[in-house]
Amino acid sequence: MSGSDLTRRTAAELAQALADGETSSVEVTQAHLDRIAEVDGAVHAFLHVDTDGALEQARAADARRAAGSPASALDGVPIAVKDVLATEGLPTTCGSRILEGWLPPYDATVVDRLRRAGLPILGKTNMDEFAMGSSTEHSAYGTTHNPWDLDRIPGGSGGGSAAAVAAFEAPIALGTDTGGSIRQPGAVTGTVGAKPTYGGVSRHGLIALANSLDQVGPVTRTVLDAALLHELVGGHDPLDSTSIDQPVPAVVAAAKEGATGDMSGVRIGVVKELSGEGYQSGVLARFEECVQVLVEAGAEVVEVSCPTFVHALATYYLILPAEASSNLAKFDGMRYGLRVYPEGIDLPSAEETMRATRDKGFGDEVKRRIILGTYALSSGYYDAYYGQAQKVRTLISRDFEAAFAQADVLVSPTAPTTAFKIGEKVDDPLAMYLNDLATIPANLAGVPGISVPSGLADEDGLPAGFQVLAPAMADDRVYKVGAALEALLKDRWGGRLLDRAPELNGAAR
Ligand code: GLN
Repeated sequence: MSGSDLTRRTAAELAQALADGETSSVEVTQAHLDRIAEVDGAVHAFLHVDTDGALEQARAADARRAAGSPASALDGVPIAVKDVLATEGLPTTCGSRILEGWLPPYDATVVDRLRRAGLPILGKTNMDEFAMGSSTEHSAYGTTHNPWDLDRIPGGSGGGSAAAVAAFEAPIALGTDTGGSIRQPGAVTGTVGAKPTYGGVSRHGLIALANSLDQVGPVTRTVLDAALLHELVGGHDPLDSTSIDQPVPAVVAAAKEGATGDMSGVRIGVVKELSGEGYQSGVLARFEECVQVLVEAGAEVVEVSCPTFVHALATYYLILPAEASSNLAKFDGMRYGLRVYPEGIDLPSAEETMRATRDKGFGDEVKRRIILGTYALSSGYYDAYYGQAQKVRTLISRDFEAAFAQADVLVSPTAPTTAFKIGEKVDDPLAMYLNDLATIPANLAGVPGISVPSGLADEDGLPAGFQVLAPAMADDRVYKVGAALEALLKDRWGGRLLDRAPELNGAAR
């Protein structure tokens, strides 16, 4: 099989080809490394490629397979990992200068599970610094480019993982989603991204942006691949005190069931507050079409109202900076990575060294949020800001509860616009924050969500996303509806959306 054939395949297809002895993990892994060498100069999805490590893991996978004892269904299928997840002995920078040169002494639990399951790790993917952003333009190591149009952003913060998967550099990847960083990049790159229920996947070794919001999840080209990866990394972890001690919802079975395209008996709630003003017309048109497709497949549609969702963005931008400012205090030039001594001082104090390190090590967006968070938590303002935000957060959860009494899943466009031009919003923090209008409520309430491609917006021919949300620990529902939509649209389009990306082919030349 040729290398380009191998890189076009889904993880499920690769797993089957490996099981059938049609190819080897070394061949599959090499094909992806070759593709990275070919296109990543233009895409810049990776911060670090671990050629030797990946091939070594691939050889081990082939040996297990030859001995008749593969470690898992995905043994030998390569994967890319967002650079916010600790990988033992492999650079882990969170897209920040302050962690340059740091080699974690341990693996994140999800990475450990990948290794035990035999997935060769191709490398670490680019991201906005400490996962703050919607475009990867806040990475200290340069922007990732959207494979659909290299002048455009791939979303963020996990634009590297989404672009790697969209450009066929990796069949699947791991991302993290604090306010939308898996789902929004999925939407703007025409890929699938899922945010599991809070506590459904371990956060141990995920370098925290905001502990109460962060969640690790799959970045893939199909809903089934996302479900396979979710089941593999999900489930209880004693090393994470917020991890839920319950079996992983049956997401693979749900994805398979959904792929039949039968939506009868499913009640779909269209959230009134998550569309309309601020949403691009082509994004809305594709969204409405998708709802119609689901109705034709037997779903029942109701309109639901979640009035507090209009405060979600403001709530998030108090809670997130508060948590982030506390989390980032540990990057002081003493413990990890970078240390900068202040200029012109012979014997600088620890505090002077910390100040110089943090000044040089953090970018503008990180500093902005540290200042915001420190302010929101300061005595005298705590009740007015952080305390209030926590109350609104509770109201948002109640709105979800009321909505889920009327519908099995809630749906909306994933992001209000398609991929914007690199440079267009980077100097306008508020415009950047608005990208997460529709994704943030799920993080505040801890509920699961998925983004699947909804089609191409008429005005610019770029991909848009359809978001499905479900109650906590009902992740199977988002996979079922996501898989149904994916199957129904594939029939309509006569193929996959990604195969229509012009720039992908351009970058491959
Ligand atoms: N774009 C959002 C932010 O800047 C979400 C980030 C994320 O999910 N990590 O905070």
